[in-house]
Amino acid sequence: MAKPAKKSGGGGLLLLVVLVLAAVAYTRTGGADTGGGETVKPAEGEFTSGFGARWGTNHYGIDIAAPQGTPIRAVADATVIEAGPATGFGLWMRLRHDDGTVTVYGHMHTITRPEGARVSAGEQIATVGQRGQSTGPHLHFEVWPDGQRARRIDPKPWLAARGIDL
Ligand SMILES: [Zn+2]
Repeated sequence: MAKPAKKSGGGGLLLLVVLVLAAVAYTRTGGADTGGGETVKPAEGEFTSGFGARWGTNHYGIDIAAPQGTPIRAVADATVIEAGPATGFGLWMRLRHDDGTVTVYGHMHTITRPEGARVSAGEQIATVGQRGQSTGPHLHFEVWPDGQRARRIDPKPWLAARGIDL
C-alpha cells in the first residue's frame, strides 16, 4: 500500500517541478530583454562616440550622427515618462521599458510622442536634431538599468546583447 502512495506522491512532485521550471523559463525569457519584445536600433546613422571618458569628462551614452529630421525610434516597447527640455540635452525623452530599464534620447529636433504615451519597439518618438550641447545633428542615447541614473551603463554591449550592432 505504501508503494502506490509513494508513486503518486512522486508524480505530483514531478508535475510541480515541471511547472516551476516552466515558470522560471518564462520569466527568464521575458527578463532577457526589455520585456519580451524585440529591440531595434534607436536611429539609423553613424556611430560617432562611445561611452566613457571624453574631452576630460565622462560621456554617459553613445552618439549616432544623422541628418536633422532622421527618425528616432523607441528601442523596445515602453511608456514615455518624460519628454521636454533638459539641461545639456536641449530636448530629451525618457522611456521606461517593461523590465524597469529606462532609455534616454537627447538633442532632438522634434518630439513626436507625448509624455505618458505607450510606444512599441521601432515606433518613431522624435527626430534627430542638435539642440543643447551638440556639435552637429546626432542622437545621444543612454541606458539606465532599473531607471537609476547613477548606474548608467554602456549602451553598445546592451544593444549588442539584443542583436543590435552599431
Ligand atoms: Zn552624447
